[in-house]
Amino acid sequence: MTLTTETTERTELFIGGDWRKPASSNRITVRSASTEEIIGSVPEAVEADIDHAVSAARTAFDDPAGWSTWEPADRAEKLRRLAEELDARAEEITRAVSAQIGMPITVARALEGAYPAATLRYYADLAHNQPVEEQRPGFFVSSTTVRRSPIGVVAAIVPWNVPQSLTMTKLAPALAAGNTVIIKPSPETVLDAFLLADAIRASGIPEGVVSIVPGGRELGAYLVSHPGIDKVAFTGSTPGGRAVAQACAALLRPVTLELGGKSAAILLDDVDLNSPDLAQSLFSTTLANNGQVCFLGTRILAPKSRYDEVVDFFTALIQGAPVGDALDEATLIGPLASRAQQERVEGYIQLGLDEGATAALGGTGTPAGLDHGYFVRPTLFANVDNTSRIAQEEIFGPVLTVIPFDSDEDAARIASQSQYGLAGSVWSAANDRALRVARAVQTGSVGINGYLPDLGAPFGGIKQSGYGKEFGIEGLTNYQQLKSIYHFA
Ligand code: NAD
Repeated sequence: MTLTTETTERTELFIGGDWRKPASSNRITVRSASTEEIIGSVPEAVEADIDHAVSAARTAFDDPAGWSTWEPADRAEKLRRLAEELDARAEEITRAVSAQIGMPITVARALEGAYPAATLRYYADLAHNQPVEEQRPGFFVSSTTVRRSPIGVVAAIVPWNVPQSLTMTKLAPALAAGNTVIIKPSPETVLDAFLLADAIRASGIPEGVVSIVPGGRELGAYLVSHPGIDKVAFTGSTPGGRAVAQACAALLRPVTLELGGKSAAILLDDVDLNSPDLAQSLFSTTLANNGQVCFLGTRILAPKSRYDEVVDFFTALIQGAPVGDALDEATLIGPLASRAQQERVEGYIQLGLDEGATAALGGTGTPAGLDHGYFVRPTLFANVDNTSRIAQEEIFGPVLTVIPFDSDEDAARIASQSQYGLAGSVWSAANDRALRVARAVQTGSVGINGYLPDLGAPFGGIKQSGYGKEFGIEGLTNYQQLKSIYHFA
């Protein structure tokens, strides 16, 4: 049975808010991660397309009656229109993402079908209700007017792992604040990016305000350093983020970096492993999207007194998760996004074995009966030392490590012993106790008895996980600049 979505062929690029002939004949071909069949192709953007997009964005931003000067309420209305257009395409977008990168379709329906429209509505409301100017009592002067304005032309660079949500985490607040935006999706996820372009075109967002330029790293680097860009928002790997930060530092260009992670899921010794919903919550916190999410708790911290019990619990959890075609409604673990990802994750599984960890489940090789597609065997490593490479490096696949600890303090200390600091979770029958541990872990966000970034609160990493916050009001202020107007009388 093949569940692959229909083949899509596009001939134009979405530049300056409309479909245009691409500057080159280069194309990006997309394969199904589950079957390796070709499921579509789109034009690849080249530098000339970026020049065109930046010039259109600049003109739209500088237009004295244009988007950046609109009342926030008018921009909010367009964002709500875009949310409706996305709702109308939600299932198509869901299927495209699921087919391209192997995200199980039930997960894609929530993360990629529903979440982006919710993000748009959230930022439409927030910007609508935020005063453009605020009066403050003076200290040396009689009073000050603090005025918010958009920054200008934003370059939004997104990875392939949750493409629509991560695009919208940038696009929605940037547009709500009045910026113009150039989105560079990853080559792995262009089909959904073109569906987003269809929705933007249908929403009536004015010409020039949004462009989408699909291409690889070099194209991203060209965009980041383009003289017409005023702000960069990057989500991706830590090495990619470092290169972008270096380019932005040389240009003194503001940049937000959402990078990798290796978060800890801490199970305190009073956790009730039989409590209803626990298994499902722990699954989505540690293995969602086949392990290809930056905030997953892939280091399981287990109390020494219950270590074997925790290993048995996760063994049963993973054994009970059907592995298969991402478009199959029953699948809980799909393939990885690409051959390169499959090889990288297999390399880490071999490394874990070489480092002396015990594979309680899984190991190298592909799951039985899945010879096509970029599948790996979901793997659980026991007897893992927190200093080992499989505990310290981001694997980005269905590979978990179980690390023992002695006390609550020891758990917080081990969780914080990481180059990263993006997320984490604490699981306990006692909320106060979990909260004490949550406060102590050095990380950008942490969940108690679950984990999911919330739209209303700042999300972002510390240490090698990057800097700057997305979501919440902080996500909007990321795309605004402040001007103080001092009054002397
Ligand atoms: P990646 O860094 O290889 O690429 C991410 C994006 O940046 C792609 O569009 C790529 O073309 C572009 N890019 C790469 N190098 C660039 C450069 N020097 N200049 C400009 N653009 C460049 O990452 P990936 O493999 O596509 O994505 C997976 C990574 O993203 C993981 O490390 C994951 O943890 C991270 N991620 C982080 C978050 C977060 O919010 N912190 C969310 C999702 C994914």
